[in-house]
Amino acid sequence: MSEQAPSDRAAQIKAELAEHLRFLQELGVQGFSRDPKWKVRPAESRAGADDAAKALREVRADLGDCTRCKLHRLGRQHIVFGAGNPNADLMFIGEAPGHDEDVQGEPFVGRAGQLLTKIIESIGLKREDVYIANLIKCRPPENRNPDPDEVETCEPFLFRQVETIRPKVIVALGTFATHALLKTQDPISRLRGRIYTYGHAKLIPTFHPAFLLRSPDRKRDVWEDMKKVRAMLNGESNQ
Ligand code: URA
Repeated sequence: MSEQAPSDRAAQIKAELAEHLRFLQELGVQGFSRDPKWKVRPAESRAGADDAAKALREVRADLGDCTRCKLHRLGRQHIVFGAGNPNADLMFIGEAPGHDEDVQGEPFVGRAGQLLTKIIESIGLKREDVYIANLIKCRPPENRNPDPDEVETCEPFLFRQVETIRPKVIVALGTFATHALLKTQDPISRLRGRIYTYGHAKLIPTFHPAFLLRSPDRKRDVWEDMKKVRAMLNGESNQ
């Protein structure tokens, strides 16, 4: 790999910074908070940290080389279990792995994933601070919607992940995750904008990043949702 000249590196950092600021502007971010709480990351270690990691490994082991539904014989390359901090206060739940996730075995690593990373960073967190999982763990062929039998078979593993991680706040990304967690069929456009309870956690439904790539004008709604998430993590929300 060739070494980058310092001037090239500086130009690259400047371009990346400008891109990030453009994104924040698109989200509708009007400034930066000086509130020190926005800088506080979830505790790196707390009692039970190792237990949560161990319990998550047990859920993964139970899932095994899963053949419970038809997706295992429809071109699956990897089971995408989830990634991140097993003690996260904040958990994001998507729909299903896409092509890039299937190849790499990691959730949200394609274009929608890059947008999700920016959304996470918009509230002062990093991907490693949160936990990211999907409703179903295998890629549906051609990225079709998950079938009801696939959701029914796979969702217990998601529910166990949530129980193990015990996040304070869950962000449900899009229709399928929101419907599975809230057991409703209402459209996401009607469900978002409000805060729900799921077990011990507060749940915020928001638009899926893949939808935002097609409808960038809805990024502002997601920013409104993320401000609520930040307030709840700071203990500032009375909802
Ligand atoms: N879309 C999802 O819902 N999950 C992923 O992991 C990637 C794209």
